[in-house]
Parts: sequence; C-alpha cells; structure tokens
Amino acid sequence: MRVTFAGVGEAFDDKLPNTSLLVHAGSSTVLLDCGFTAACVFWGMAANPLALDAVYISHFHGDHYFGLPALLVRSIEEGRTKRLTILGPSGIESRVTRLMEMAYSNALARAKFSIFFIECDPGQDFKHAGFRFRFAMSDHAMPCQAIRLDTADKSLFYSGDGQPTDDTLELALGCDLVVHESYSLDQEKTGHGSVESSVDFARKASAKACALVHVKRTVRRERKNVILARANAISDMRVFLPEPGDVHIL
Ligand SMILES: [Zn+2]
Ligand SMILES: [Zn+2]
Repeated sequence: MRVTFAGVGEAFDDKLPNTSLLVHAGSSTVLLDCGFTAACVFWGMAANPLALDAVYISHFHGDHYFGLPALLVRSIEEGRTKRLTILGPSGIESRVTRLMEMAYSNALARAKFSIFFIECDPGQDFKHAGFRFRFAMSDHAMPCQAIRLDTADKSLFYSGDGQPTDDTLELALGCDLVVHESYSLDQEKTGHGSVESSVDFARKASAKACALVHVKRTVRRERKNVILARANAISDMRVFLPEPGDVHIL
C-alpha cells in the first residue's frame, strides 16, 4: 500500500492544501477527502488521475468535500469514462448533486462516466475497489467518520476531523499507519485532535507509524520542532509531519 499526502493542511492554510490522501494498492486508487484546495493538487500528484477508483468523504465540511466539483469537471474535460465511486456519510448523493448544481450546473450531463454513491455507516464492513472499508465516528463539530482501509497484509487508518473516541481506537488497532488530525498542540479545542492525543491514540492502537495532519497553520509553522519533540516524548514509534507530495510505503 502506498500513501501519497496530496494535502496535509487544515481548512484555511494559505501554504498547505487541505488534508487529502491518495491511497494506492495493486491497480486500485482511492482518494481520502477532497477539500477546496486539494482537488487540483490531486491532478498533479496522481500517476494516472483518470484511473481513480473512488473518493471517500469523511464529513461535510468544505475543506473535506468542496473540491469535488473541480475533481468531477476536470474528469469530464479530460474524457474520463471509468465509473467513479463516491463514498461518504448519509446524504452524500444529495450533497454532491446540490454542490455540482451550484458550482457547475449541467456539467454532469456531459460526463461520459457514471458516479456510484455508497453511504457509509459505522459498523459497515465491505470490500470495494481492492480495499476492505470500515468506519467509526470521531468526536467532531458535525458527524465525521474515520476510515480504515485494509489490503491483504497492510492497513491504514485516517481520522478525518475530530478527537479520538473509543470506537475510532478500536478501528485503528494494529494499523500499519495512523494518519490523525492534530489541529492543536495540546487538547485545547473541543472537537479536534491534538498532537498529544493523536500520538497517544496511535500508541494505544499499536500502530507502526503516525502521521500528524491538519495542524493549525500558525502552530505548524512556528512550532514544528516543539510538535516533533512533544510527539517523541510520548512514544518511540515513528511520528512525522508529512509535507504535500510525501509518499509513505506501508
Ligand atoms: Zn477539516
Ligand atoms: Zn471538519
């Protein structure tokens, strides 16, 4: 399994695109979240953008799904013919349909590919596009589902937004890589993860490595060394702050 960090930023970072992960295994590719500043980055990073199998939306905040119109319309322009799956919380199809109507009305009528929607719920466990999909609710300002992707021998956990919960910890157990939203350095903001809570979470899950993403822009810029020092004080697991374009092989 290969994870490319298309974006690693929070919602309004002027330097770092919104957190978005391109996950590749075998001949399958899934994009995890597609925020307003992440969609165009995807096109520059994917080896074969038109081969993308699926997009997973963790929750309905703009920095996680408002990039879909750009992704879809560029796919139309580039002549995509392969069916695209969009997975997300309950209401994903009506949300995306309304978003497209507002952004580029009638564009979908020109599409030479179909869109297949899958509504995801905690407790679901299914295989799609070469991956096993599972979900759990995090603690965020709106319902957000963390996701676990497994291949035959590798596993990835991505938190979406929000503080860890008992359910997300159970989901992450034994993962090769935990990618966790870590908006603050300390647990100062409700509904968001922190550096400390994310590393502690990955340690409890016995993960092999932990990537901290969605860090508040000022904290990430001014306190990068403090973040890594704090993380290393909690655990001897590999903890890192990925940059856009970084690739992690599991
Ligand atoms: Zn966010
Ligand atoms: Zn959010």
